[in-house]
Amino acid sequence: MASVRLENLRKEFGTVVAVKELNLHFPDGKFAAILGPSGCGKTTTMNMIAGLETPTRGSIYFDDRRMNDVPPGKRDVGFVFQNYAIFTHMTIAENIGFGLKIRGVDETTIRREVGKIAELLELTDMLNVNAGRLSVNDMQKVALGRSMIVKPRIFLLDEPFSNLDAAFRAFMRGELKRIQREIGQTMIYVTHDQVEAMSMADLIAVMDFGVLQQFGSPDEIYNQPVNTFVANFIGSPNMNFVACSFRSEDGKGYLVQKRGSARIAIDERRRQLLEHHSGNQDLIWGIRPEHMTLHAEPISSDCIQAVVRFLEPLGPKTVVHLRLGEEHIKVIAPPSYREAAGVVQWIQINPQYLHVFDAKTGVVIR
Ligand code: ATP
Repeated sequence: MASVRLENLRKEFGTVVAVKELNLHFPDGKFAAILGPSGCGKTTTMNMIAGLETPTRGSIYFDDRRMNDVPPGKRDVGFVFQNYAIFTHMTIAENIGFGLKIRGVDETTIRREVGKIAELLELTDMLNVNAGRLSVNDMQKVALGRSMIVKPRIFLLDEPFSNLDAAFRAFMRGELKRIQREIGQTMIYVTHDQVEAMSMADLIAVMDFGVLQQFGSPDEIYNQPVNTFVANFIGSPNMNFVACSFRSEDGKGYLVQKRGSARIAIDERRRQLLEHHSGNQDLIWGIRPEHMTLHAEPISSDCIQAVVRFLEPLGPKTVVHLRLGEEHIKVIAPPSYREAAGVVQWIQINPQYLHVFDAKTGVVIR
């Protein structure tokens, strides 16, 4: 196993800059995700790590060894793509053992190692089945096994589950996380699906337009987003954003809604921070739907008033859509919530989870 370090990595395709001065360190033995919307440079980054693309500038290190000039076949990297690559005329056992066979490993060792991988992937009972008869779901499991058996130093996975059906995808997320923890393999996983990244990875690199936005644990990315892009991309339903300005009255600080009359009191630390912020008339407050509660009456002087638009019952919770002045916001309520459209509600915001962003730059102010 090895760590992966990217230093000022850049990739241009003609006039398109796919990856811009990327600096990242994926620690040895950790499960890291590269997350971002389509076209943000995820696959290009992966391909440069694997050696399938040559960087325009910058360096790639595995541990302390610079890899830029090492050909792909010598990098000791395992790769699993969205489209499973297995031999349909071979059995599952032959597929999984293929990498060892072409390396000249003896039959007894191959059988033993195939057995271990099959156990890990829960394929033991199917080893003699012809791979051509497998479902798409099981084919992708076999593809994983085939890459894992050669024990690569780095394991790269590029949206490997996107062709699988939803239930199996959820199952495989759990399985891959379990396997990664069991074998302590350095894994880098590319996805545009924030649920996949949040549920599996130890560390997430969020990218947009070839630029790294934030790199941290799922908890950091979720609770301390550095800008509106990350705040909006993570979480479902997504964070509420309300345009506001800062006001100081009688020594107290407030965020005052621009397209409505809602006003939120802020603590002294935040007041001082915003007092000295040059763009303090052009701000956004951000709060996740799960960090507010709805009440029939104001339960404190901090409550803000909104009107129910419609409900979105999701089983274990209900997403309540409300009108706040001229803006629309969402609040998570229990499944028993029943208020009808037009009903006035009082919203209690948990100030601990309130985020304030500069509206011009999108950068958080904290
Ligand atoms: P997706 O999830 O859709 O695969 P991605 O985040 O993996 O997207 P990349 O495939 O890395 O993004 O592409 C980043 C940018 O580089 C895009 O604008 C893409 O069009 C461009 N690009 C990628 N490969 C090439 C290429 N071979 N030639 C020209 N442009 C390319």
